[in-house]
Amino acid sequence: MQSGLRYTLFRGVLNALYFSGAHWMLRPMLGGAGAILMLHHVRPGRRDRFQPNSLLEVTPKFFERVIKRLRKSKIDLISLDEMHRRLVTGEFPRRFVCVTFDDGYRDNAEFAYPILKKYEVPFAIYVATSFADRLGELWWLALEAVIAHNQLIGIRIDGTDRWFEARNVPEKRAVYDHIYAWLRQLPTEDALRRVMRELTARHRVDMPAFCSQLCMDWQELAELAADPLVTIGAHTVNHPILTKVDDKAVRSELENSRSVIEAALGVRPRHLAYPVGDRSAAGPREFKIATDLGFNTAVTTRPGVIFPQHRKHLTALPRISLNGNFQSTRYAKVLISGAATALNNGFRPVNVT
Ligand SMILES: [Zn+2]
Repeated sequence: MQSGLRYTLFRGVLNALYFSGAHWMLRPMLGGAGAILMLHHVRPGRRDRFQPNSLLEVTPKFFERVIKRLRKSKIDLISLDEMHRRLVTGEFPRRFVCVTFDDGYRDNAEFAYPILKKYEVPFAIYVATSFADRLGELWWLALEAVIAHNQLIGIRIDGTDRWFEARNVPEKRAVYDHIYAWLRQLPTEDALRRVMRELTARHRVDMPAFCSQLCMDWQELAELAADPLVTIGAHTVNHPILTKVDDKAVRSELENSRSVIEAALGVRPRHLAYPVGDRSAAGPREFKIATDLGFNTAVTTRPGVIFPQHRKHLTALPRISLNGNFQSTRYAKVLISGAATALNNGFRPVNVT
């Protein structure tokens, strides 16, 4: 299904659930034990009309409304360690919510941290170590920059140069979606990275520079990590789509990221987030390797709430995305209730295949 249509249908489902009050009725059945919230950027909105990655950000104002509402509710805001303890022991006194951030963006410290501190909310940041090392390739942002700054995009596809016109916002959106989808279906992560290095060199976009512009370095991470509210989790070294690399590379990405974080911050991460993390980016092989390597929990980006049954699938946990396309506390409430994602999961509590 075309993504715009799917988005419209999903929003329709959310509205229908909210206005019918159905989510409160379904809640005891579908709400599970709790939910893990997933965020990327928390920062004030930008004016640009071409923002293909806007679903990865929410404004500080929206974020504070959600946190305030959760604090007032009968939901426990807990750390990943406490969630792990509850899942393993089967003790669920109240429903819980864990707050998690992926990648390690500086805006998390600047805009989200003061809010979380104010309401004393524990949270986790999953750090991709190459971003903190300033060597990472945030290729989805580099692709956005190439298309934003150029009217004609040249890209080598299957050995031939193809040119795309991107003179206005609708054209830029279409070109982004097209190239993004093509990159995602490439057979290997190496192939994707090679294309992006060539594309950014050709259009003079400095890909590693996004790290220093947007991501925390080790000093900034150490300052955050010193707060007992903060858990630092692993998010691999190079942020690859793990299903597109071999077994050995999956192991080394997970192991090395844990060792690098331990060396830099003095704490060995017990929790992991798979990069990209959807069904095509993390599956049974990755879940098993994370278990073998001894991670206590690992999260995907598959949508869903946490059920007691997840104790048998601790390295395949779903999350609820607080995302920029659904910035209303009404949506957040419905999502946390589990009703919307239960529809998505065909009403199966655990969906790990
Ligand atoms: Zn990530």
